[in-house]
Amino acid sequence: MMHIDTVYINGEFVKPHGRKTLTLINPDNLETIGKVILCDKKDAAYAIKCAKEAFKTFSKTSIRERAEILQRLYDAISKREDELNAAAVQEYGSPISATRGRTRFAKNIFLTVRDKMNKFSFEQILHDGSKILKAPLGVTAAISPWNANYTHICQKIAPAIAAGCTVVLKPSEYSAIETQLLCECFSEARLPKGVVNVVNGIGEEVGSYIVKHKDIALINFTGSTKVGREISKNAAKMIKRTILELGGKSPNIILDDADLDTAIPNALKIAFSNSGQACHAGSRLFVPESRFEQICELLVKSLKEIKIGALYDEQCYIGPLINEAQFNRVQSFIASGIKEGAKVLAGGLGKLEGFNGYYAKPTIFTHVKPNMKIAREEIFGPALCVFTYKSVHEAIKLANDTIYGLAGYVSGTDLNRAKSVAEQIFAGWVYINKGVYEGKSVIPHVGAKQSGAGINGIDDYLQFRFIS
Ligand code: NAD
Repeated sequence: MMHIDTVYINGEFVKPHGRKTLTLINPDNLETIGKVILCDKKDAAYAIKCAKEAFKTFSKTSIRERAEILQRLYDAISKREDELNAAAVQEYGSPISATRGRTRFAKNIFLTVRDKMNKFSFEQILHDGSKILKAPLGVTAAISPWNANYTHICQKIAPAIAAGCTVVLKPSEYSAIETQLLCECFSEARLPKGVVNVVNGIGEEVGSYIVKHKDIALINFTGSTKVGREISKNAAKMIKRTILELGGKSPNIILDDADLDTAIPNALKIAFSNSGQACHAGSRLFVPESRFEQICELLVKSLKEIKIGALYDEQCYIGPLINEAQFNRVQSFIASGIKEGAKVLAGGLGKLEGFNGYYAKPTIFTHVKPNMKIAREEIFGPALCVFTYKSVHEAIKLANDTIYGLAGYVSGTDLNRAKSVAEQIFAGWVYINKGVYEGKSVIPHVGAKQSGAGINGIDDYLQFRFIS
């Protein structure tokens, strides 16, 4: 049982002013694992003040100093990797093998960004002697979701540090244990005081206060498209820069020459990665009408081979959903699919038999029509919608018939054709004949349409100025 009654601000763990508490539940077995005291607006104001003060000196640090900090962050996380993994399994219900991969990915971000920073030109002299100066932008806000907590936090603070900016981080309150451990790593890495300041708290209260604060120059947000819209609206009032990584409803097109024995098990893994709580989940599967029956049989067979539960089993692929609200949300989508006439090929309503935690049944819908709610909205759980198509042209048209544009997947043996289809899917990143999502490169990282805006690179954290 962990009592989190301090928060990392100005290089120290201080008692927050906020008094509200949140009880943290292990989603796998529903045991209470902790309590966190949530910050309020006063804590957020203090964090911003500290970040503003720290910016005065941190913005003047050399590339070498910042490279050393990024290395120390990597080292500190490496030392405590096992503990960080255990916290994510316990708090988020993420199977161990996926957890390990994500933590490794998160710590590597510091080295990737350091190497990019070392090659980055912070000042450019033009042929006539004019200069382009690229100066640190100021105090930046990082607002992150509960899925892949370490990745999202590291992905936001690494480029900020490389650019010489300071950060006020508002993580998800549902990831409080993971965030606290990560902050201990920041402290052990001797991060200069005030460079990263954390405010646990409710999004509508604390997150929104940070977004609207006059001293915040940039908002780097990962979360739902709904909240992304709200943040954009608030940021626009002061023309603040935003980087938005939002939701998805990504298509996976199986071409008629695909090797189904590989493509179909992969399709399930792509759809159910992170127990379906993945922004990049390939949650809409497009299959040739001529191979529909065969593909349905393979889907059912492959689903039986996926290991669910026993989170420390190396083979485990699907765990519980993060909390009761998320479980209920997924149930309401499954109910709506049934009500609107989709057929349940596997899974369906209710808790998975034999599990106490928030385990939804991995569900596969067929006979899905493009106007159904399950076809249009992000479910963020283990639910896959299968559509049939008559021609490749129709498959591409259906795949792009969405407000989202985060990811896309294509399988086929004729690589030239598969590449051509991939290029016609309007999404930030598209994979051909690949299994599970293999980790996006840190820079550039961008979602298309209502899945995001901005690149999340060092440039985003700099003010370009032309001096002639
Ligand atoms: P969410 O949008 O509910 O919350 C994300 C964060 O925003 C949380 O810290 C929350 O407290 C805060 N927040 C909520 N309301 C706010 C407001 N009005 N102002 C400022 N901050 C506010 O998302 P979630 O449920 O935590 O995460 C799941 C969502 O994140 C999914 O939609 C998923 O697709 C998306 N996501 C996207 C990516 C990507 O790279 N594109 C990656 C992971 C998750």
